[in-house]
Amino acid sequence: MARSYQDLLAAAREQVPETQVAELASRAADGGDAPLVVDVREQHEWDEGHIPGSVHVPRGFLEGRIAGVASPDQEIVLSCASGNRSLLAAVALRQMGYEHVSSLAGGFTRWKQSGQPWDVPRKLTAPQRARYARHVSIPEVGESGQLDLLGSRALLIGAGGLGSPAAYYLAAAGVGTIGLVDDDVVDESNLQRQIIHTTDRVGMLKGESAKIAINALNPDVQVNVHPFRVTKDNVLDLLADYDVIVDGADNFPTRYLLNDASLMTRTPLVHASILRFEGHASVFLPYEGPCYRCLFPEPPPPDMAPSCGEAGVLGVLCGVMGNIQANEAIKVLLGIGDTLSGRLLIYDALGMTFTELKVRRDPNCPACGPDAQLEFRDYDAWCAGRPHEVEPVAGARS
Ligand SMILES: [Zn+2]
Repeated sequence: MARSYQDLLAAAREQVPETQVAELASRAADGGDAPLVVDVREQHEWDEGHIPGSVHVPRGFLEGRIAGVASPDQEIVLSCASGNRSLLAAVALRQMGYEHVSSLAGGFTRWKQSGQPWDVPRKLTAPQRARYARHVSIPEVGESGQLDLLGSRALLIGAGGLGSPAAYYLAAAGVGTIGLVDDDVVDESNLQRQIIHTTDRVGMLKGESAKIAINALNPDVQVNVHPFRVTKDNVLDLLADYDVIVDGADNFPTRYLLNDASLMTRTPLVHASILRFEGHASVFLPYEGPCYRCLFPEPPPPDMAPSCGEAGVLGVLCGVMGNIQANEAIKVLLGIGDTLSGRLLIYDALGMTFTELKVRRDPNCPACGPDAQLEFRDYDAWCAGRPHEVEPVAGARS
């Protein structure tokens, strides 16, 4: 006589006791005599979340593997998505002599719905394991570091000379979220160094053009295009969503603004600047190392501050410095190695020398010193040597 699925479940219910979510939760919270929870769902279901402390044995392997995880006299609660598969699985275990087996009523779904805690395992997917194999093999990165990168968020100021290589390598590295702040469009004169853009994207917003390149390189990366200039009015909202700032700005007002905002939000700032054959780089870790104003308390006189637009820049120099920034950002995100915090690295591409200057935190720094007041100002006017307003920022984290 054929029996329906409903008949099978009904018969199983007569043999197998059910454990309620509330009972399991309170026994799990007590610790001590908590039963072993065996989750019999499929791998992809388990990967999306499960009861903390439970062990995973997919239904198809249950009879073969149960001896490895539990003894016949042990108390076991079987769990699945809704409480049906676990009920039938419990019948099988009872036939094997496991007498203290029950089934979790309503399964993991009811467990979640009733607000109980649950774990999502941190694991690379098979395609990610292949893509990031060369990172996973490095002990300092490994699977856990790669997962950290995938969960991290980098904000790039500028998708130009420095931002192009930095964004490209951060995307390749699997930094999960990359924000691109740039209000400019791709120009033919950018292509000598801004390698993330292409000839057929001349005229397109730089953020959009970079997004196309990044999406083509690595679909794991979420790209946020911020098509505006960073200002004192938007910078705090912007930084709230990111773990590190990569400053690829080509002007002093933005550098000083980012420094102040990095201190206010305690967001690490990876700095670089470039001109002709010379590049500078450093890392500013708020209140741990020096900040940009410990190095340069005041902007240079306007006539002493040439821009790349006027003085020119070697395209390759942007690649070297942007990649140094990407490297430092990754170290900051992973908390590994020695960053450039406390050091100013100077690269002379023509002489091919790297020089390092020690930089100390200035106890009288107007931005990060103990008596400093966190404040925004009119950075354009300040850097142009004009009188300007200074506004203290209340509520900033200091
Ligand atoms: Zn400082």
